[in-house]
Amino acid sequence: MKKYVDLSQISGMQFPFTKTEHSRLSQVDFSHLPFGRIFSDHMFQADFNGKEWENPRVIPYAPLALNPSSAVLHYGQSVFEGMKVYKSDDDELLFFRPLENFKRMQSSSLRMCMPLVPEPIFMNGLRDLVEADASWVPKGDGKSLYIRPVYFATDSVIGVHPSELYTFIIMGSPTGAYYTDELRVSIEKTYSRASRSGTGYAKAAGNYGGALYPTKLAQQRGYNQVIWTDAATNTKVEESGTMNLMFVINDVLVTPVLSPSKLAGITRDSIIKIAQYWGVRVEERDVYVTEVIDAFENGTLQEAFGTGTAANIAPISVIGHEGKDYKVPVSTPDNFSMRALQFLTELKAGRVEDPFGWIVR
Ligand SMILES: *Cc1c(COP(=O)(O)O)cnc(C)c1O
Repeated sequence: MKKYVDLSQISGMQFPFTKTEHSRLSQVDFSHLPFGRIFSDHMFQADFNGKEWENPRVIPYAPLALNPSSAVLHYGQSVFEGMKVYKSDDDELLFFRPLENFKRMQSSSLRMCMPLVPEPIFMNGLRDLVEADASWVPKGDGKSLYIRPVYFATDSVIGVHPSELYTFIIMGSPTGAYYTDELRVSIEKTYSRASRSGTGYAKAAGNYGGALYPTKLAQQRGYNQVIWTDAATNTKVEESGTMNLMFVINDVLVTPVLSPSKLAGITRDSIIKIAQYWGVRVEERDVYVTEVIDAFENGTLQEAFGTGTAANIAPISVIGHEGKDYKVPVSTPDNFSMRALQFLTELKAGRVEDPFGWIVR
């Protein structure tokens, strides 16, 4: 019935596999999985030696030995990805649009002046890790194995230049369904996440380090996250924390148009395509702060939410702007965002037909 792109024709693992002698699986409480704190037994690693990729392998998850002079620690040549693998009711392991994560890591790497990780290393590494740690993929209720590829510079030279040596790792972390309380977000006009000609579109480590302080200040004022505005004028909304931002205004799905300062979320793209498939009108364009506030005041703002792999969709309940809190209408199950969340969750778990060809087995 369901036909998926299939990565599993090759039986067994492609790369050398060193199995752990001390599986931690039995120690994990799968009913309590705090996000990103527990890691599966193995990791995939491949190294770039300045000329070519070598030694792709699946090995026990373990600390790395790095010289204190390692380039990544000083100058931040480091990019990452975030994706999830689900276990279907029939115990199939299902990825969601993994090639998009691969392509995005290529564009992040280019921006950070890093050699590109070849597709077979990324995709087969992913496949081999998940095969090795299949029993770590939790089943049901939106649970998944969160997959974190990370790629960084390892030259032991303190001098600002592109590194010659690099390490690419993929690790897995079992996660429960991600339930957030509705988010209180604050429109940020003092600090910026990314500028028009900066690195915002790359999933590069430094973008996240720089976001922590303004986020902490917002949290001290009682919000969960900030809404970033454009660095040049602070008049246009861009993203919310590490999620893309969407509104439903007058029955139209409105979302900031992609630009070099925004991260092109795969969830964002998927929600847009689902909306179009359902016949919902979508506008990707500049979205002004004043327009959002006006939509509150004249009652046309119906929904506000963030989109990203971790939460899929996180409803926003309050938007703070210049000392005033605006309450978004409470989300109900027949809202666009809640219907999209339901559909996306079922799609990823293989419970509904995939009309888009997004699921990869
Ligand atoms: C990862 C990320 C997103 C969401 O991207 P997805 O592909 O949907 O997970 C949005 N904004 C930022 C800044 C991100 O880092």
